[in-house]
Amino acid sequence: MRIKIGLVWFRHDLRLADNMALTEATNQCDVVLPVFVFDERMFNEKSEYGFRKIGVQRAKFLIESVANLKKSFAERNIELIVRFGKTEEVVYSIASQVRSTWVYCNRERTPDEEKIQDTLETKLWQIGQELRYSRGKMLYHTGDLPFPIRHTPDTYAAFYREVGKIVPVRKPLPIPDKILPYMGNVPSESIPTLEELGYTKDEIEGHVFTFKGGEFTGLKMLDDFIKSHFKVKALGLKKKKAHKVLVTHMSPYLNVGCVSPKTVYNAINKFMGNKYHKNRANCIVHGLMRRDYLKLIEKKYKEKVFEFGGIRNSNPVGLSDDMEKFEIWKNALTGVPIVDAFMRELNTTGFISFEGRRILSQFLIEELKVNWRIGAEYFQSVLIDYNACSNWGNWNIVAGVGYDAKEDRYCNFITKSKKLDPKGEYIRKWIPELSPVKDNFIHEPDKMSKEQLEELHIELGEDYPGPVVNTDRWV
Ligand SMILES: Cc1cc2nc3c(=O)[nH]c(=O)nc-3n(C[C@H](O)[C@H](O)[C@H](O)COP(=O)(O)OP(=O)(O)OC[C@H]3O[C@@H](n4cnc5c(N)ncnc54)[C@H](O)[C@@H]3O)c2cc1C
Repeated sequence: MRIKIGLVWFRHDLRLADNMALTEATNQCDVVLPVFVFDERMFNEKSEYGFRKIGVQRAKFLIESVANLKKSFAERNIELIVRFGKTEEVVYSIASQVRSTWVYCNRERTPDEEKIQDTLETKLWQIGQELRYSRGKMLYHTGDLPFPIRHTPDTYAAFYREVGKIVPVRKPLPIPDKILPYMGNVPSESIPTLEELGYTKDEIEGHVFTFKGGEFTGLKMLDDFIKSHFKVKALGLKKKKAHKVLVTHMSPYLNVGCVSPKTVYNAINKFMGNKYHKNRANCIVHGLMRRDYLKLIEKKYKEKVFEFGGIRNSNPVGLSDDMEKFEIWKNALTGVPIVDAFMRELNTTGFISFEGRRILSQFLIEELKVNWRIGAEYFQSVLIDYNACSNWGNWNIVAGVGYDAKEDRYCNFITKSKKLDPKGEYIRKWIPELSPVKDNFIHEPDKMSKEQLEELHIELGEDYPGPVVNTDRWV
C-alpha cells in the first residue's frame, strides 16, 4: 500500500507548537512534507495607493521566522521546503510531484488569502487531491461559539457577553511527538535576503529592528514577560502597580503565527484568579478576544471591512484623497508633537502602542480629513504586526464606519498628549529638536512666545514645523 504523504502548507502559522494543521497531518499521514512560499506578489506588487504590501520591518521578521521554523524542523531531521513564486502554483507543483495524499493548511478567511486558497483547492481537485483545512488560528474555535459566524454580535461588548467566561478556550496542542519526514527529493531554495526580495539599502538602513522573528524568540519573550510581570511575589506588589495596564508586545508573533493565541491565553489565564494580577491578566485576555472578534467581523462582513463605507455601509463625509496632507502626516510634519513622535516611532520600528495607533488614525481622519483607507493601507505596509482584520477593523472603528465606533469622536490632542506623556519624555526621545523645551510647553511648542522660542534657539517652521491645524480649540 502507498504511504500517506501529508504536505503541510505554512502561512501565518510559523510554529510547531499548537499548530493544528501540522498535528492533523502527523496524525493522519505516514510522513510529512512542510512547505513555505514567499509569495512574489507580496514583494513585487504595490497596494492601491502605491505602498509596499510588506514593509521592510515585516519582511525581516518574516525571514527570521521562516529561518527559525526551518531550524526547528532540521533538528527533527525534516527539511522545510522554501520557495519563491506564486503560492498556489508552487504548492500545486510540489503536491503533484510527490503525489501527496492531502495538503494541509490552517484556514485563512481574508479575501486575498482566500483567493489563493480557493485557486489551489480547485487545482488540486484536478489531480484528485484535496486541501484539508484546520481551524487552529484563533483563540476560539468557531464551532465552539454559541452563534454561527453570520450572527456574530456587532459590538465587542455584546460579543464578550456571549462568549467571555462562557465558552472555554481549548488547551494548546503540544508539538507532535514524532514527525516522520518525506524522504523523496524536493528541491528547496535558500531563504531570501531582504536585498533579494527587492528592499533597497536606504530602506534597510533607515530602520531600527527591535523585534526578532521566530517561535523560539516569541515563546521566550512570553516567558520573560510572565516572569517579570506576574511571578513577582503577589504580596510585594503594591495595589496601584498591580492595576497598571500591561502590554505584551506579542502581536508580531501572533500575526506571523510564531506563537498561537491559545498559548498566550494559557500562560496568562492562570493569573485571572489572583487578586493582585487579575486586572492586568484580564486586559490581555480582552486584547486576545478583541483579536478574535475582529476576525469574526471580517468573516461576517467580508469585503465591506476594506471599503470606504465600512461594515456599516455608511458614507463618511468630508474625507478626501488629499495626498499632500497625507504626506505631512506620514512624514511626521504635523507640528503636533505627540502625533509626530508616534509617527517617527512607527516609521523607524514598525511598532507603536494601541494609543499611538489611535492618535495617528484619529488625527488623519478628524483633523486632516483624509480618506481613512489611505491610512489603513499605510499601516498595512509599515506595521510589523499587520493583520488584515485587526488593522482594517480598528480603522473602521476610528473612522466611524464600524459598529463599535463612538458617536462623539472629538479628540483633544493636547489633553491626550499630557495624559500619555506627562513629562514629555516620549516626545523628547523621538523629536530631539524639542529637547530644550520645558515641560509646560512640550505638548504645544507653538504656544511659546517669540522670545521664549528665541531663548531656546528654536525656530518653528525651521527646526520643527508649526502646527498644520488650528490648535487653539484644544485649550
Ligand atoms: C488604527 C489601528 C490599527 C491597528 N492595527 C493592528 C494590526 O494590524 N495588528 C494588530 O495585531 N493589532 C492592531 N491594532 C490593535 C492594537 O493596537 C495592537 O494589537 C496592540 O497595540 C499590540 O500590542 P501588544 O501585543 O503589546 O498588545 P497587548 O495589549 O499585550 O494585547 C495582547 C494581544 O491582544 C491583541 N489585541 C490587543 N488589543 C487589540 C485591539 N484593539 N484589536 C485587535 N487585537 C488586539 C493583540 O494580538 C495583542 O498582541 C490596531 C489598532 C488601531 C487603533
